Amino acid sequence: MTKKAWSIADSATLYNVADWGKGYFSINGAGQLQVAPPNVAGQPNVPLTDVIAGIKDRGMDLPVVLRIENLIDLQVSRLNDSFAAAIESLGYQAPYRGVFPIKVNQQSQVIEEIARFGARYNHGLEAGSKAELMIAMATLTESGSYIICNGYKDAEFIDLGLRARQLGFECFFVVETPAELDLILERAELMQVEPRIGFRAKLSTEVEGHWSEDSGDRSLFGLSANQIVDMIDRLKAVEKLDWLRLLHFHLGSQIPNIRDIRTGVMEAVRYYNQLVNEGAAMGFLDLGGGLAVNYEGGETNYDLSEYCHDVVSSVLEALDEDVAHPILISESGRATVAESSILLFNTLDVTRFEPGPIPDINDEHHELLQKLNDVRLNVEVARAQQSFNDAIYYRDEIRELFRFGQATLRERATAESMALDVMQQVKSLLPQMRRIPKELEALHEDLADIYYANFSVFQSLPDTWAMDQVFPVMPIHRLNEEPDREAILADLTCDCDGKIDLFVGGHKTLPVHALNGGEDYVFGVFMVGAYQETLGDLHNLFGDTNVVSIRIDEDGSFDFVRELQGDTVEDVLSYVEYTPAWLSEHFRRTAERAVRRKLIKPAQRREILEQFRESLRGYTYYEH
Ligand SMILES: *Cc1c(COP(=O)(O)O)cnc(C)c1O
Repeated sequence: MTKKAWSIADSATLYNVADWGKGYFSINGAGQLQVAPPNVAGQPNVPLTDVIAGIKDRGMDLPVVLRIENLIDLQVSRLNDSFAAAIESLGYQAPYRGVFPIKVNQQSQVIEEIARFGARYNHGLEAGSKAELMIAMATLTESGSYIICNGYKDAEFIDLGLRARQLGFECFFVVETPAELDLILERAELMQVEPRIGFRAKLSTEVEGHWSEDSGDRSLFGLSANQIVDMIDRLKAVEKLDWLRLLHFHLGSQIPNIRDIRTGVMEAVRYYNQLVNEGAAMGFLDLGGGLAVNYEGGETNYDLSEYCHDVVSSVLEALDEDVAHPILISESGRATVAESSILLFNTLDVTRFEPGPIPDINDEHHELLQKLNDVRLNVEVARAQQSFNDAIYYRDEIRELFRFGQATLRERATAESMALDVMQQVKSLLPQMRRIPKELEALHEDLADIYYANFSVFQSLPDTWAMDQVFPVMPIHRLNEEPDREAILADLTCDCDGKIDLFVGGHKTLPVHALNGGEDYVFGVFMVGAYQETLGDLHNLFGDTNVVSIRIDEDGSFDFVRELQGDTVEDVLSYVEYTPAWLSEHFRRTAERAVRRKLIKPAQRREILEQFRESLRGYTYYEH
């Protein structure tokens, strides 16, 4: 029987490239994954292996976060253009203004690119803290772009925002708690600056999905109807109702169902109508974030243009007839940057669950081994389940004897190998079985290889660990060969959660290729541009990875626009309060004691100390 030839189309289907790759990731004839941003004229394809070669030529190693700037620009354009199209087609009377929530990716290359490219759309920034507001004030140059200040604000936060107003920024304070309003009034009076105030409403609309707790009565954020009434009265009393300009709501992130978004928008617009009726100046409606992305395909029942269309039409539907159309603001973070970053890492080693050598078994061998051998030599489709059960039974009996000192290490090893052999045989028979029992179905996972890979889940993919987020993962080369192994990926941390064992489509293993000797085998994890970088932690002191931003040009060449060296060992040690000087000095003393005890010669001491200092300056990940 000859094997059907494997094609790159088979790989594309297997790894779901069409779904998450949106048509701009594809596989070339050489079996390499390539990217072709649609906003580059001629849409040239760039193989990721070429980019990695460029990274290595410049002296950097994997793991690396690869940022494709063109894809940031693409999403900023798509968001603005889609809203503009919906506004145009529905005859809405006011424009859209986007703001990027800095918390979603605070890296300066990202924020600067959004500010630079977004200027043509007056795309602004959302800040949830003083630090983020300072980023916004220093980065935005276009005075037409908005700055939205969310989060709890102290006097200093408010003063910074008032300074932004003085400098000509369209800066809004979104009031999260009643106490904040007094502080804003007080500081504004003191500084003689007119603030723009928004209220964050706590909607009763509840949404599905992971972040459903951001919505509803018990949500942590936002003002109740009573608090809003009370604050209107306070503004009225001081004759500052014309400072109230904006209504804000945020239902949560990654909202799967467009009907929830519609319901939320309608409820918010009712609030908006009422605020206008009460005499507030208003003019701005801020829809928050929540626009979802499809990591696997099919998580949402809407796309970007439906989102924009449904939001604008819901506003029109709920707005009172005599109320002027407010400027629409959205704070889409995830949808703006998720696609632009890729985590790339190499594979270090593999564990396979395959039998070791099995000796010829004769009647000199332990009786249990003889029985297990019988099972092993008689596996058939019709008795697959029974063979499996028997193999496990005899294997466990031998393990038990071993625990009591009544079986040797070699006997145990032989038993383990024979049991694995039975499991492998049963697994290979599964396709011939009419009905596969659950226990046998799980053999795919139980026998899957473990690919040890050069990254830390905790540092680079925290949502994988914290909330079982599934990111698209696949090898980025050899895609013209059939992947004939199944694997899970384990990271460098020695933590049982440091792994990827859930893949697109709910699969618990990933099809992979057998490693070719010393050749690098590189995986890409895609759509990691949102939330992953700064939520990451220093588990086992694996630090930030190298980060490279590229811009793809029309001729298919690419520029390394930014290169950031990842943390060195010295860097991560300083985060936990070790200074290189202290470490070197203490290590020097250890080495000197060894010289005195004649364990090493002085010349060796010098060599050892040099090596120690070099390691301090090295990468925290596995280096070649
Ligand atoms: C987190 C957050 C966002 C971003 O949400 P996405 O789902 O990433 O678009 C927007 N606004 C507020 C207030 C947030 O807390």
